[in-house]
Amino acid sequence: MERVAIIGGGPSGSVCALSLLKEGGSHPLEVVIFDKKPFSHYGPLGCNMCAGLISHSVLETLDSLGVPVPANVIQRKIEKHFFETRWGGVSFENAPGAMLYTAYRGMGPLDPRGDEGTGFDHFLLNSAVKRGARHIKEMVTSLEIPSQPTRPIRVRYGDHRVMDAHVVVVACGVNSSFPQVLQGLNFGYIPPVTFHACQAEIPLDEGEVNLWFDNSVKVFSLGLKGISLGAITPKKRFVTVTVLGSHVRRADLERFLLNPIVTRHFPPHWELPTQYCHCHPKVAISTAKNPVTHRLLVVGDAFISRYLKNGIESALYTGTKAARAILEGKVSREELIRHYVRPCRERYHRDNYYGKLLFKTHDMIAKHRWLVVPRLHMISKEAKKERWEEKTETQVLWHLFTGSAPYKSIFLRAFTSFAKSFAKEYFLMVKRILKRDSMEEE
Ligand SMILES: Cc1cc2nc3c(=O)[nH]c(=O)nc-3n(C[C@H](O)[C@H](O)[C@H](O)COP(=O)(O)OP(=O)(O)OC[C@H]3O[C@@H](n4cnc5c(N)ncnc54)[C@H](O)[C@@H]3O)c2cc1C
Repeated sequence: MERVAIIGGGPSGSVCALSLLKEGGSHPLEVVIFDKKPFSHYGPLGCNMCAGLISHSVLETLDSLGVPVPANVIQRKIEKHFFETRWGGVSFENAPGAMLYTAYRGMGPLDPRGDEGTGFDHFLLNSAVKRGARHIKEMVTSLEIPSQPTRPIRVRYGDHRVMDAHVVVVACGVNSSFPQVLQGLNFGYIPPVTFHACQAEIPLDEGEVNLWFDNSVKVFSLGLKGISLGAITPKKRFVTVTVLGSHVRRADLERFLLNPIVTRHFPPHWELPTQYCHCHPKVAISTAKNPVTHRLLVVGDAFISRYLKNGIESALYTGTKAARAILEGKVSREELIRHYVRPCRERYHRDNYYGKLLFKTHDMIAKHRWLVVPRLHMISKEAKKERWEEKTETQVLWHLFTGSAPYKSIFLRAFTSFAKSFAKEYFLMVKRILKRDSMEEE
């Protein structure tokens, strides 16, 4: 039986294993997943460090793989977003029929406040093991790629142990040193560029989360120095606070949390705890170069992901696409480029440029009152409209915050929205100001 070694049991690795084992009926494979992370532990050690917002499409993909996500993995259903700026905020509901969910990527924060359920990655890895994958709780330290492409790849793991594999899938994400190990193998791999994030799990009573967060994710564009975006994602008895920026640290996260605009989203007596569970993950913001060689392919964040949003969905996409190429026996370098790398790049690479442009524009707008105010006004006006199709600016923000549509289509919608309504809204605002000024002069 041919062996596939998967390095990493996060979403891309586990879903690749699940797809290989579901669809490999007539061509049985031995699937081995290496991951030392203790997903059943509380705190950052057992966690794949993310805000844990999961789109409906992720649940649908897992349903189609025969692994429906159980209720104890889901922390909360998200029905709304609240967009907060220095000059006010607006709330808007999900696109019709599109539900979002939150989950922990480990068992939950340090100092759990009750039964926090099960983590998303723990569930996925366990499902792969139940389907027949072998899980080796060790880190892979290096790989030996043979000079003859027909010979197996040697996987070195744990304490000087080795295993030979017919195909190797690297699903190591961007938060370990393995991408650099891969780069050292000289087949041309260059890891994606990364950005910094800082996250905290802030404990609250379940009733307080219900009352103050009301099943909504809060997104903050406050134009604070060094922080491009802040978000608060509610779980059952905690809220996950995330700040993004090229060099964000815990001090930046606290500066964000203690900003009066953010603090007013917490109960009146709330104070920042002296100790809380926090982490400093990296976020991939570009595409890796040369993610394949003969019988070796890189999946998930270590290859390509949707820019700043819905990374779990892109991890599932690359994981299942890799499995399909392996099952079809298309594992030479040239075949992998054609059947795996190209479709993934076509889906995300160019689209991410639109994503970058949209986020940059969003950041720029957030700094200027004269741009923010008409935008908020438009979204408030759109709330009164019946049909989702008529709410152009709301759609732009919703898709931008959830990553649930290609960035190109959001970009085009944003452009239309600007041309149609924003310009009008802006013109009316200038007219109001001029009128007020002339009345004051009189
Ligand atoms: C702050 C932040 C917030 C985010 N929020 C969201 C969100 O709300 N929704 C969303 O969809 N996405 C979010 N993402 C993105 C999402 O976390 C990633 O896109 C997703 O986890 C990528 O999955 P992966 O399997 O490629 O890698 P990972 O999830 O990073 O998994 C990699 C696995 O490989 C293992 N590993 C690494 N090296 C080795 C080795 N040498 N040997 C064995 N195992 C190894 C690790 O232990 C880990 O388990 C966020 C990311 C960040 C940083």
